[in-house]
Amino acid sequence: MVYPVPLSFSCVAGQTNFPWIRPSHLIKTLYSTCDIHMLLGGAQTFEEAKPALELFWSRFASIYPQHGVFRKIRESLGRISTSHLLPILVHGDEGTTYKRNGMLVLQFSGALGKGTRKTKTPDSWYKDLATYGIPMNLVKTALQTRLLTFLCPKDGEMYSSDPSVFKHIIDIVVDDWKQLEDSGIEIPAYGTVFPIVLGNKGDWSYLVTSANLERSYRRAPKGREQAKKYMDNPPGICHLCMGGTKEGDWEDLIVAKRLIRAARTCGTPPPWDVEPAWTRLLHDESPGGAQRFHRPDVWHTVHMGIGKAWVASSVKYVQFLTGESSVDKRVAVLSDDYMSFCEENSKVKYLKKFEAHTFGLKAPEPAASWNKAHLTATLMQWLQSYLEKFKDACDADLRLRFIAASSVVLAHFVFAMFCFVVLLCFGPVSVFAHSPGELRLRVQKP
Ligand SMILES: [Zn+2]
Repeated sequence: MVYPVPLSFSCVAGQTNFPWIRPSHLIKTLYSTCDIHMLLGGAQTFEEAKPALELFWSRFASIYPQHGVFRKIRESLGRISTSHLLPILVHGDEGTTYKRNGMLVLQFSGALGKGTRKTKTPDSWYKDLATYGIPMNLVKTALQTRLLTFLCPKDGEMYSSDPSVFKHIIDIVVDDWKQLEDSGIEIPAYGTVFPIVLGNKGDWSYLVTSANLERSYRRAPKGREQAKKYMDNPPGICHLCMGGTKEGDWEDLIVAKRLIRAARTCGTPPPWDVEPAWTRLLHDESPGGAQRFHRPDVWHTVHMGIGKAWVASSVKYVQFLTGESSVDKRVAVLSDDYMSFCEENSKVKYLKKFEAHTFGLKAPEPAASWNKAHLTATLMQWLQSYLEKFKDACDADLRLRFIAASSVVLAHFVFAMFCFVVLLCFGPVSVFAHSPGELRLRVQKP
């Protein structure tokens, strides 16, 4: 299969003919081959997508009124309207090749999509916005929804040995996006359309490198020696707030709440010494907006971060319910229950069996040993089903009830996050207690 998009060749890491795909070339080709629907949630033309684009940007404006894109519209004195802005998200990650080497992948996707596996969104959702809202971009294959810009191997004199290679790649990619934001692309009988990058997404490892972050998780002190070194002026662990600096201990949730609120209202000093290329693109111009352009990957943070810690700690706590005397015997009982759960609910097992080290049960602190993100979600669901067998114990123990509710709470969290952050599907959301121990979200339809 050959797609007729022109390749560009730039000088990268001393190689003069390094191939990549300019987003401008790809978007123009998508239009000329009648594939522009991949960026318009299925709408075949900009004319068809016009009401959805207008709705998207009106909601976006209510959350980011000071975004540079609205200044651009004001300064155009009526020449540019929101129906001519195409919302885009850029994503970067380091993948793994068949030979297990690192490979930088830069790609982009349309913010308008065709929904999720759990929502039933018809292909023509954009004709009935009142019913379907604006669906997320989470279904269809990666070939249909994620559009490649750059591939670069890590090793072999590339970015692992020379960090300036990574910077150069970001630089030339941002230049192309900047040109698109400034000049747009001509769509016959519709006018000039301006692709607008809403953010740079990725796991924190990618964000640190692509946005020159000095304040990041990598500055969390490892051990007493480093903590001593940072004592007078701790550098901070988050590019969005001042967590981990002298302003507050991010591990104290009450303090963390204050730090997040302060970052939102007053902004924070730039988290970089060298401003990243991305800041050349339009971004939120309210305090801290330039750093908020860099969006953490929430799935990664939950599935490979706090979710893993939660599951390992939960298993360590619930193991007493098995009634067995040793850790190995308890793990064996839990393992059998997990395997039955997977079979009854058609879940992929990922693990052949639980061992004590799966959850760090013999270590001083519980720790999760798996590297499969989906397993975290399945284990949360299994914990809920396991604890349903111990109703009396749960009634008597608040912690067990918390653990049993974790998968439900996670689902609520993700749902609320989409409503607040992605803001595509619904109007304002409020959280209320439905009954003791159960939270519900009240959603106002637009
Ligand atoms: Zn933070």
